[in-house]
Amino acid sequence: MSIRIADELLIFLPASRRALEQRVACDGTSTLGHLVEALGVPLPEAGPMTLGGAPAEPSARPVAGDEARVAAVPRPQPVPLEPGEDAPAFLLDVHLGTLARRMRLLGLDTAYHNDMDDPALVVQANAERRVLLTQDRGLLRRRALWFGAYVRGSRPDDQLADLLGRFAPVLRPWTRCTACNGRLVAVDKQEVERELRRGTRDSYDVYGRCEDCGQVYWRGAHGGHLEEIVEEAVRTVEGIRAAQGAAEAVPNGGPAGT
Ligand SMILES: [Zn+2]
Repeated sequence: MSIRIADELLIFLPASRRALEQRVACDGTSTLGHLVEALGVPLPEAGPMTLGGAPAEPSARPVAGDEARVAAVPRPQPVPLEPGEDAPAFLLDVHLGTLARRMRLLGLDTAYHNDMDDPALVVQANAERRVLLTQDRGLLRRRALWFGAYVRGSRPDDQLADLLGRFAPVLRPWTRCTACNGRLVAVDKQEVERELRRGTRDSYDVYGRCEDCGQVYWRGAHGGHLEEIVEEAVRTVEGIRAAQGAAEAVPNGGPAGT
């Protein structure tokens, strides 16, 4: 049989086999999902599939001669939310520390530990219904994982752009502690004045203290760079949501007459 892979999924195939059209030996018992995964594509990255042109579940069992197609996950990708939540919570693997701090800066509920092994990550992600973000394909292949996503890019800027494009989450900048993910509560400058160095006290405004670890936050020396990250992230998500709203407002999902 043949499986046609979406462009965006080619990165998961070994370099020597990176072609859109894949010939696959079909034993009649393997599921479509298994065959796709055997090519190298983790199932959390695989979007809608078809078999002979008709929509098919990963549990479908192709037979010899079948033609299948696999799309990438839709962007933005919906995440099942708990009642009262309007944005997903995340858990990042040990290699994504910089991304974790940026996500917290944007107010995303982001758990991160620099010393957690794979089984422990899966346990926490499942128990707390957090989307597990990783660049480890093996981790994404774990059957028990409720929701995982591969992070594209090696630079934190690219990783953040990928994350925002994938989930377009609701952002609440400057509301979380970048060190521990705790929520920030507003504090009066006078209240924390003694904890600040003189240069800081004179030049910057305090905007919060972490409920969990007590860290005090102000728009300080690195404020300029952080402001830029926040502004760009907010623009990115607004752009995605505007495009999505426009697409939903037009019947058949495309601009009429173009
Ligand atoms: Zn904290």
